[in-house]
Amino acid sequence: MLRVGLSGGIGAGKSTVAARLVEHGAVHVDADVIAREVVEPGTDGLAKVVEAFGADVLGADGGLNRPALAAKAFADEESRRRLNGILHPLIGARTAERMAAVPPDGIVLHDVPLLVEGGYAPNYHLVLIVDAPVETRLRRLTELRGMPEEDARARIRAQATDDQRRAVADVWLDNSGPADAVLAEVDRLWADRLVPFEANVRLRRPRPPM
Ligand code: ATP
Repeated sequence: MLRVGLSGGIGAGKSTVAARLVEHGAVHVDADVIAREVVEPGTDGLAKVVEAFGADVLGADGGLNRPALAAKAFADEESRRRLNGILHPLIGARTAERMAAVPPDGIVLHDVPLLVEGGYAPNYHLVLIVDAPVETRLRRLTELRGMPEEDARARIRAQATDDQRRAVADVWLDNSGPADAVLAEVDRLWADRLVPFEANVRLRRPRPPM
């Protein structure tokens, strides 16, 4: 199994690229989706969160009230650590489960926030970064997604810089042009099964065992 880590700044086009790779046959393991699944109503995860933070983190429908949880969990470092201590093992276990279900010749696309910031790049055979200039991303986020510009700028400031992403990238996908252009590039990458164009790039850092 080839493990591909997908990252890139907010609004760069990760979902657009991931969707195309899934059409080709990649298995998309999306950390955001898994993070929501482990605290769905009826899960052990939700029970543990309620035990730790109180029943007022639940909404009227019995589901997690995320803003209420965030207000409590991000109030101080100890609470944040407590929440991470509950969620991270659950997310890790479910991610491993999803990966284990992929056939040996499959290609997993792991879409994980903080891949760069958290130093997770060595977990992957190949790190695929999607990039577009900040102004382009801002335009997409505000115009296409309706995000307030200040929020978009704040999110961008909190993320890794281009230089930090470049340092771990095996494949750098430029999504500054029309979507068709980046998708054509994705098709080419898939035809080569994502082998970086500079053949020696893969030797830059140690790889996990296949
Ligand atoms: P996030 O970090 O929030 O997950 P993302 O990196 O997954 O974002 P996308 O959702 O793929 O980014 O793209 C952001 C927005 O820009 C979407 O509305 C998408 O349709 C649009 N978009 C992506 N690529 C292009 C492009 N090349 N030209 C124009 N619009 C694009």
